[in-house]
Amino acid sequence: MQPLQLFDPASSTYTYLLFDTESREALIIDPVDEQLQRDLDALQAHGLKLVWAIETHAHADHITSAGRLVELTGARTAAPAGCGIGTAAVQLEQGDELRFGAETLRALHTPGHTAGSMSYVWRGHVFTGDTLLIGGCGRTDFQSGSASDLYRSLTRVLFELPDDTTVWPGHDYHGRTQSTIGHEKRHNARVAGRSEAEFVALMDGLNLPRPRRIDEAVPANLSSGLRHDAGGDAPAAPRPAQGKDAGSYAGDVSPELAWRWVQEGRAVLVDVRTDAEREWVGFVPEAVPVAWKQWPAMVPNPDFDAQVRAASGGKPVVMLCRSGVRSIAAAQRATALGLEAYNILEGFEGDPDDQAHRGTRGGWRRRGLPWRQK
Ligand code: FE
Repeated sequence: MQPLQLFDPASSTYTYLLFDTESREALIIDPVDEQLQRDLDALQAHGLKLVWAIETHAHADHITSAGRLVELTGARTAAPAGCGIGTAAVQLEQGDELRFGAETLRALHTPGHTAGSMSYVWRGHVFTGDTLLIGGCGRTDFQSGSASDLYRSLTRVLFELPDDTTVWPGHDYHGRTQSTIGHEKRHNARVAGRSEAEFVALMDGLNLPRPRRIDEAVPANLSSGLRHDAGGDAPAAPRPAQGKDAGSYAGDVSPELAWRWVQEGRAVLVDVRTDAEREWVGFVPEAVPVAWKQWPAMVPNPDFDAQVRAASGGKPVVMLCRSGVRSIAAAQRATALGLEAYNILEGFEGDPDDQAHRGTRGGWRRRGLPWRQK
């Protein structure tokens, strides 16, 4: 069984889609922002349910789509604990395993390109990110990189895997798609036959140009790509601010109260999820679909404004999204437009992490409120 390998030409990044053939549960490694639709299409074409979106490290050359994929599919994010990606639901440590259906992916800490970098082993495959590239390796001259750490990760961690393990790199700039551990051990131009001191001297002398997108990409990737202006300590559920009226809306309501209001004709239910999300996860009857597409960038969207005004028809609106984050932004916007707008707590799905750790009940779907698939 082979992983699906997808390529982003702008950054020469490989994204990998792995899945369990029985349950169709899938995991994606290093998804790229600009390729979100391609990845959603691939999931749909193969009949897959995404359960994990994971990173090998905080990238400097492209922005991840992990945060948006999670919003759209209900998957969860996981990232190496040492990478400072505070929004990732699971912080992976050496040896941790992620399950998708009957399949298991194992995390190997392979520092060097960055201090937190990880590689992932699945069956006879290893996904090496920027630690091991075909015939080369990732640079070590920024983002907490260390050439001696990388030497050890290559020679004592990755090269300890069986020789016939297939190597799937995070990038290739020459159209090559895969290699093997045995081949890289013998022929890798950077490391094969070199001592640690020789390798460090070589890496220190590379004098590579600064990555074009580093100032934009690294901060964004520290929040799973969700807030392009965020720092490393972005909260797990970012609450976007909008000028001086940030935070003002009529209030938070439980899914049950919102549904009662709708039944009594006292409020209009507005579903701010995208069409794709509803297709994936489920529809709520009587909800007016008005997608909050400006997420995560707070760009004013005249379509949203016009549609939410029309949906309201002079009544209060109650906003529903997947986990109760975008619905706050949408309620704030509707308030700014002069409507009486409420946020529905926990959204349609709720946050699985909150349910696991804080014992919350979960969103609309788990509370016996009406919804349907398709
Ligand atoms: Fe990188």
